[in-house]
Amino acid sequence: MSREKNDHEFSGLVTEARGGMYAVEERTGRVWLCRTFRGTKTCNGDTTLVAVGDHVTVRSTGDEAEAEGVIVYVDERRSCLVRKRDRKRNRSGEEVQVIASNIDQLAVITSAMEPPLNRRLVDRYLVFAEYSDIPVLIVVNKTDLANHEVLATELAPYRDLSYRIVTVSASTGAGMNILRHQLVNRVSAFSGHSGVGKSTLINALIGEERQMTGALSTAKNRGVHTTSNAVMLPLPDGGHVIDTPGIREFNLSGISRENLRFWFPEFLGPMQECAYSSCTHTVEPGCAVMKAAEEGRIDLQRYESYLAIFDSLDEI
Ligand code: GDP
Ligand code: ZN
Repeated sequence: MSREKNDHEFSGLVTEARGGMYAVEERTGRVWLCRTFRGTKTCNGDTTLVAVGDHVTVRSTGDEAEAEGVIVYVDERRSCLVRKRDRKRNRSGEEVQVIASNIDQLAVITSAMEPPLNRRLVDRYLVFAEYSDIPVLIVVNKTDLANHEVLATELAPYRDLSYRIVTVSASTGAGMNILRHQLVNRVSAFSGHSGVGKSTLINALIGEERQMTGALSTAKNRGVHTTSNAVMLPLPDGGHVIDTPGIREFNLSGISRENLRFWFPEFLGPMQECAYSSCTHTVEPGCAVMKAAEEGRIDLQRYESYLAIFDSLDEI
């Protein structure tokens, strides 16, 4: 939903947000330095007025050559990645902050070795993506260090569940074209545990050494680099990558012991047969999910991930 624009207004994409300043990329690729003002309108009820990934209408202020403007309108968000706001800095009582919006897919960045594939963490990301209804792409980096047979075995349960998987090596370039193909013309949020090679991958994808500070700080030398902020970077073949913080920062408050079972797609069939309709699939006799895990119809490690996440969630 966009609104009518006058001569000094145009559409753009918010690529950075920091300290009340926003970098907005015009369709031509030109980046504008923008602020909000009292007249900024939004149709999003969220507490975050403008977030990285938002489609906005900008009105240029003053000199065209300066590329400065104000955001007059924020379009409706299709999807959001949300985190809990730092309470100490939260003066207005808001609970959550939109880290990034209008995401087409969550790219879960993992590594095959150094650090070894952390299946428990992958399952946490998958639960989050299922709960958020965001398509997921599993990216396994550092395949140059991996035993390919072992890796194939580790990934088999995810292939069986039809999750998209790309195996790459940022070092050798193996698989990188397949990854590029999965990212073209989409907005992909990259998230992963530190050390897996997320920065190396992003640098390889954008085709230039990533500026440590991004557009906002280079423009007029504003801002200090903070890794916790999301930054959106254009891909050479079309599409964008958003570098986001790790899953610990995501707001998982909507996931409960009560609804966790729905974010494990392979549980949905067997759980119809559980003896108790309120079965939590942890200790109950006649649990068909547990039986399926014992008989190998549900991958045992996936079931163990379920138990671990279940334990980590508060009792209602
Ligand atoms: P980040 O914390 O996820 O952003 O990880 P970095 O991009 O900083 O990478 C962590 C380390 O892994 C660095 O020493 C990289 O050089 C190394 N690395 C990244 N990608 C690969 C890869 O494909 N193969 C190997 N062998 N090392 C890699
Ligand atoms: Zn059960």
